[in-house]
Amino acid sequence: MTAKPVLVVGGAGYIGSHTCLHLSRKGFLPIVYDNLTNGHSEFVKWGPLEQGDIRDRARLDKVLAKHKPVAIMHFAALIEVGESVKEPVAFYENNVIGSLTLLSAAQAAGIKAFVFSSTCATYGLPQQVPMDETHPQAPINPYGRTKWIIEQALKDYDAYTGFRSAILRYFNAAGADFEGRIGEWHTPETHAIPLAIEAALGRRQGFKVFGTDYDTRDGTCVRDYIHVMDLADAHVRALQHLLDGGGSVELNLGTGTGTTVKELLETIIRVSGKDFAVEQTDRRPGDSPALVANNAKAFEVLGWQPRCTLDEIIDTAWRWHSSSNMHD
Ligand code: NAD
Repeated sequence: MTAKPVLVVGGAGYIGSHTCLHLSRKGFLPIVYDNLTNGHSEFVKWGPLEQGDIRDRARLDKVLAKHKPVAIMHFAALIEVGESVKEPVAFYENNVIGSLTLLSAAQAAGIKAFVFSSTCATYGLPQQVPMDETHPQAPINPYGRTKWIIEQALKDYDAYTGFRSAILRYFNAAGADFEGRIGEWHTPETHAIPLAIEAALGRRQGFKVFGTDYDTRDGTCVRDYIHVMDLADAHVRALQHLLDGGGSVELNLGTGTGTTVKELLETIIRVSGKDFAVEQTDRRPGDSPALVANNAKAFEVLGWQPRCTLDEIIDTAWRWHSSSNMHD
């Protein structure tokens, strides 16, 4: 049986490339569409690369006509919250105009299944923890708002044109391919696990903890770290759900377990066997005290449950960062 083509937009990035790996295992052919601003051609290993921008409608139409994908997975975005505060226009142009252009091209091409990378940042400050999908959405930065806007567009497209989609709200993606072929590679890196691992490897001077006076069990922020291959698994299940005729869904993807920054650092030191300097500094504006998913709905709709432990997340990330110089 020939593999069914799926257009993976932003597939040269961190989560998109791991999803391509899983798609190829599950009998799909991932066609990566990426402008490579933050992606890496080295990560495109399981299907062809079509270089292009999501704001380029003519290029999108050409690629869709060439490959005739059965579905689109949309990972392409600018993702750094701090940058979004400094450069909101770039975020609106890329994440909103780009996504709307992609959606128009998808509709014109008759795409029947669309999977969208959203984020727990659309919830804003937590009113309760863990958060389920009915938690009010009030993003507190331009990044979160650009994602929220596309969620609203997708809901209207479904309600009034029957265009079906899966909105997947990730918590903190982490870890790497178990075989170490690809991993987390953001420039600049702002995520806690790679930053702490780089400190453990001596590539960075120590690790900064922002805020130790939060109302949490040890005063540091609580986050829900989900293995990137568990995310990839949820994406392929959501895709299959839509291809089988299932209705549009919005789902949290997290483990349901919160980890404080202190607990995270202890785990990294234990798993890596390397200690490093930790500096405690003031809170960072815009950081939520706790973000933890209630993931019951993803289990109910997709039969999905995360499998990897925090130790496995750290172990796979550690092996990727320590064995590869690619991301330096
Ligand atoms: P990433 O930066 O590694 O990947 C994004 C990819 O999109 C890159 O390859 C980049 O080159 C590409 N891209 C960006 N703008 C583009 C454009 N205009 N045209 C074509 N390609 C473009 O980021 P990631 O960590 O893999 O995140 C993927 C998605 O998941 C993003 O939409 C992000 O908002 C969402 N998300 C990530 C996390 C996380 O913890 N990393 C959490 C929640 C949501």
